[in-house]
Amino acid sequence: MIQINKISLSIDLDDTLSCFNEHWISIYNQKSGDNISIDKITDWTLTQFVLPEWEDKIFSREIVYSKDFFLNVPIKEDAVDFMKWACEKYDVSIVSASYFETVPDKAKWIIKHFPFFDIRNFIPCYYKYKIGADIMIDDGVHNFNRFEGKKYLIDRPWNKKFKEYDNIRYNKLTDISKCMDNLLYFG
Ligand SMILES: [Mg+2]
Repeated sequence: MIQINKISLSIDLDDTLSCFNEHWISIYNQKSGDNISIDKITDWTLTQFVLPEWEDKIFSREIVYSKDFFLNVPIKEDAVDFMKWACEKYDVSIVSASYFETVPDKAKWIIKHFPFFDIRNFIPCYYKYKIGADIMIDDGVHNFNRFEGKKYLIDRPWNKKFKEYDNIRYNKLTDISKCMDNLLYFG
């Protein structure tokens, strides 16, 4: 069903609805014997936080592109509640910058966790402003470039240094839904 009467919402997948970075860190620590933690990932470039011999192996078949990696990424604890709420009120798209080989497993993950979501609105897209949504929720501040709509930033260690976004920074998805509810009711 085309939901042309609803406000459109673009929500990110990795590290917004899912715990992508926690997952690769867990596998990386197991395989490498290293012991990095999520709070140490203070930048978008992940390779700088791993042992030198692993820099070329994170985004390879060793870890991120290993079989079933994306199928097994943990879900954020409030993601189902948020998505049920959002799909009732908004025209929701899950928009994810994705290497093409990962798209089928990302789609399977979405269907598994959000069976009520119309999977046709899963959109692999690198430059997310192109979707032209009214609202964007993301953990990557670079995705807000050239985006004209309302922005909500999910607080994560790698975006904390971007203080200019502190006024749109939220710890939890359900904090965002409360804020969006207020917008709907009070303009
Ligand atoms: Mg993300």
